[in-house]
Amino acid sequence: MSSSTQQRYFENQLQPLPTDDETLEQAFSKLREAVLVGMRLIERSAGRQSTDRRRDSVYTGSAGIALMYMRIALQGNALELPEETLSQLPDLVLSHLPSYVSGQDPRPGHISPLDSHVGPSVLLILHELRYPKSIRNSAWNGAVINFKAAIDLAIADTQLGGDGVLYGKAGLLWGMLNVSAALAEGLGQDRHREELEEFINEDSIRDLVENIIEDGMAGAEDYKAEFGHEGPELAWPWHGKYYLGALHGTCGILTILLQCPRGIIKPHFEPIVSTITALLEIASYNGHLPASLPARRRSDPHVQICHGSPGLLLLLDTFRGKFPSKYLSEWRNTEAKVSFAVWDEGLVTKGLGLCHGVTGNAWPWLLTAHMEALSQDSERSGSALGLPEAPDRLSKALTYLIHSTELPPIVQEPLLPYGTPDNPFSMFEGLAGAICAWADACLVIKTWLSGKEDAGPVLGLPGLGGMGPAGVM
Ligand SMILES: [Zn+2]
Repeated sequence: MSSSTQQRYFENQLQPLPTDDETLEQAFSKLREAVLVGMRLIERSAGRQSTDRRRDSVYTGSAGIALMYMRIALQGNALELPEETLSQLPDLVLSHLPSYVSGQDPRPGHISPLDSHVGPSVLLILHELRYPKSIRNSAWNGAVINFKAAIDLAIADTQLGGDGVLYGKAGLLWGMLNVSAALAEGLGQDRHREELEEFINEDSIRDLVENIIEDGMAGAEDYKAEFGHEGPELAWPWHGKYYLGALHGTCGILTILLQCPRGIIKPHFEPIVSTITALLEIASYNGHLPASLPARRRSDPHVQICHGSPGLLLLLDTFRGKFPSKYLSEWRNTEAKVSFAVWDEGLVTKGLGLCHGVTGNAWPWLLTAHMEALSQDSERSGSALGLPEAPDRLSKALTYLIHSTELPPIVQEPLLPYGTPDNPFSMFEGLAGAICAWADACLVIKTWLSGKEDAGPVLGLPGLGGMGPAGVM
């Protein structure tokens, strides 16, 4: 494929996949096979970074590989994985996690489970809840101390600059929502449940949500003072800029907030809706969302989930899933324009990754298609809302995802134009994240084929969700 002049993406010459049953069955087989091949490649190549400090990181370290196995274990039956593989998954989770995470003082802006010591702590807790007595008491205690310290700090923190998903409070909130979902499922030993319910409950979730909203309002005031014009009603600064994407900025923060219990989010509904409207107004120009505000019109758009338009599609999916009747008709045209921009420019040269690659760009379409499948003929229906047909979104998602199964590190062709990620097996840059996308896609396909019956838990993007918390992150 020829590349664009900016070399940021390849011109999309892929033929959109049809969505008849036979093609969907073939896509299921292909993606399921890629999950198995990918897991084997990770076990052969990724190693266990027992002395590596990056082990802490869900984003690019070994903890992210553990999270991938946690998700596959939840979806394994629906994926029709071999019995032998299924039975190994819980041990594979633990083999990629540190056996103990020592207590560390959390720092503002370093409290998200995605890229701090809080990550392995939350994963150890979630794993022990689902597979009781699999870790030692000391490991449990250390993990609980870390998680609680981060939550206490976040709720008390009044400084701006630490709200995003990758490093800040919204990422931590996603960890809380998932532990809360696991507790609501009745998982875990009684004494563990009681210990967690002390600090992860409706009050603490509400406190953190209100803290994040207050930061957003204060940020919007600062924005106006600094640039002399109104920005969105909610704006969160980070490193001196007002980022908009899903990993660093507004799209991601709102995506997490919208997945909180309704009663907690409802009082803040109006500023959230007006902020979404503001983002869509910005994107209405050419279907692209700039990385940060104030927008520079001429700047090269990034089509990647961390910065840019795919994050806006994820936010709209999440909104539609939670508040289907509140979706504003004035959003429709721009959403369609954004979706076309992602299709045209989303085959990014960086390769298959989730954060800045092809699988992350495809995932929001997948969630639209799944919501449509689950709620046919109900008010949730995307087509009833006048959106591009759901089969079109499913087709786009699967076309991208099947293409991604042929990229490095799965295929190592020296002449392949796509790059190999810096951390080729990791969750947010490499294979582990792609495996999670392929697995979600398999379950979406099954739901379509089974006549709209829910085939298993579609989990959404790691660290961001989209379908609500399912007790795994
Ligand atoms: Zn990125």
